Amino acid sequence: MEYDYVIVGAGSTGCALAARLSERGDVTVALIEAGGRDWNPWIHIPVGYFRTMGNKSVDWCYKTEPDPGLNGRSINWPRGKVWGGSSSLNGLLYVRGQAEDYDQWRQQGNVGWAWDDVLPYFKRSEDNERGGDALHGVGGPLGVNDMRLSREICDQWVKAGVAAGYRFNPDYNGADQEGVGYFQFTCRKGRRCSAATAYLKPNLGRPSLQIISKALTRRILFTNRVATGIEIERGGSVETVTARREIILCAGAIGSPQIMMLSGIGNAEHLRAHGIEVLRDAPDVGGNLQDHLQARLVHKCKKPTMNDEVNSLVGKMKIAAEYAMKRTGPMTMAASLACAFLKTRPDLQTPDIQFHIQPWSADSPAEGPHKFSAFTSSVCQLRPESRGHLELKSANPRDYPLIHPNYLATPLDRQTMIDGVKIARDIAAQEPLASSITSEHAPGIEAQSDDELLEWIRNSATTIYHPSGTCRMGQDDGAIVDERLRVKGVSGLRIADCSIMPTLVSGNTNAPAIMIGEKLSDMIRDDAQQLAGAA
Ligand SMILES: Cc1cc2nc3c(=O)[nH]c(=O)nc-3n(C[C@H](O)[C@H](O)[C@H](O)COP(=O)(O)OP(=O)(O)OC[C@H]3O[C@@H](n4cnc5c(N)ncnc54)[C@H](O)[C@@H]3O)c2cc1C
Repeated sequence: MEYDYVIVGAGSTGCALAARLSERGDVTVALIEAGGRDWNPWIHIPVGYFRTMGNKSVDWCYKTEPDPGLNGRSINWPRGKVWGGSSSLNGLLYVRGQAEDYDQWRQQGNVGWAWDDVLPYFKRSEDNERGGDALHGVGGPLGVNDMRLSREICDQWVKAGVAAGYRFNPDYNGADQEGVGYFQFTCRKGRRCSAATAYLKPNLGRPSLQIISKALTRRILFTNRVATGIEIERGGSVETVTARREIILCAGAIGSPQIMMLSGIGNAEHLRAHGIEVLRDAPDVGGNLQDHLQARLVHKCKKPTMNDEVNSLVGKMKIAAEYAMKRTGPMTMAASLACAFLKTRPDLQTPDIQFHIQPWSADSPAEGPHKFSAFTSSVCQLRPESRGHLELKSANPRDYPLIHPNYLATPLDRQTMIDGVKIARDIAAQEPLASSITSEHAPGIEAQSDDELLEWIRNSATTIYHPSGTCRMGQDDGAIVDERLRVKGVSGLRIADCSIMPTLVSGNTNAPAIMIGEKLSDMIRDDAQQLAGAA
């Protein structure tokens, strides 16, 4: 098996990269994926993430180590193990982050990653049903749609946000992120538009693109520090896939650093402790781990919410019938309907918290909705300072790495979350929302002081699924990849996925991951052309 480019991981970034690299037909591309094809029908029905999360046939089902910031709790970290990767399991929310996030990457010396540099790639990927303009694209592979359902409680939340003094923002992916409003979704006609649906399915017949599924990449093979191929495990046997030009790791924020360490690039002492031969001492591989932590307030309501619809057989039948006939209603529901990007302090330049508003509530997705009428306002800090890390459990590629998120490790992170909860309460106290609420279920009004709120956060907060930063891009010696995403200290190897983010973007991470794949495809072509020119 020999190809020009070998891409490891058919997730958000990997699918975009594979499709773009293979589109001219002048090179061959192999896309290697540990999971299988996205046959599970629940992947394609937006609300299906309730069923796919925790399902080992499509989810890696990682679990963190007990985290001191969460009072020693260990929490689930779902990650897609299927065509489309985490974009096949995610909540479908289409969010790019703030222009300032990318400008900051550029300020750190990463030429080519300022907002003006990355915007064309967001637009190129996008097919926004609202139409194109200076900030949005049409005709791209990724369907971006407005909601196909509404619920009064979410509309009341948005109005209450405005009553609390925040502006209504019809497009948080527009010129300014700040304000309250409604999410857009990576959907088309009521069906999920994962990276696989967007980028792979239309191109399955291409001779230049080969997808190798159910193949676990064990390690990268080097000859004199040049990456020449990868070792994969498929159907019980170990095989080699050779790259004539380059290997690109797109295995995500957990998979990519794990493969790097298994291949001898990581903290030398740590690698030796696991009996792995050291190719390059790179202590920061697996470090700089960042994630968005969410605290979920639940308010009980006077009128029925989606909890009641889902908990009744008649309600369920109505929901199914509506979806079957019109492709609308709760089955088209992404993780949230309404949203807000707000500042916890007036002196901030841009929002530092995000709200996800859901017309339902649950203790965990697996347990199903509460038996009472309620809605959820989830708040997360957008730019946490806390940094965690990953380490190998063993040299066996099948063993999951040990994940130490290190949530809430700094005073700023703790205070921002506490202030976010207070803002959620303030909005809940405004009309027209206030008169729809009967009581606060979580955290409950007993929790009033900062210490009490922090304790509730530590005991109940969970991930909002955005691990990033574990193979960070940068110009300093500790950085793992340079601004062209080339792994430092070796050649023929790049990394492209959420692991390269030096700092986590201020929002959900699917659209940025796809942008990274789109952008790298151009960089690889440019570099290949330059090389050919020089020769
Ligand atoms: C439950 C959930 C909800 C989310 N909700 C949202 C949302 O609403 N909006 C949003 O923007 N973002 C959301 N996210 C986050 C977003 O989907 C991810 O950040 C993004 O998809 C990550 O892209 P990636 O390319 O970095 O990695 P992934 O998409 O995770 O892709 C990595 C791929 O590599 C494969 N792989 C890993 N290791 C190996 C190996 N050794 N060999 C072969 N293959 C390997 C994996 O199986 C996977 O397919 C959510 C994520 C989850 C899990």
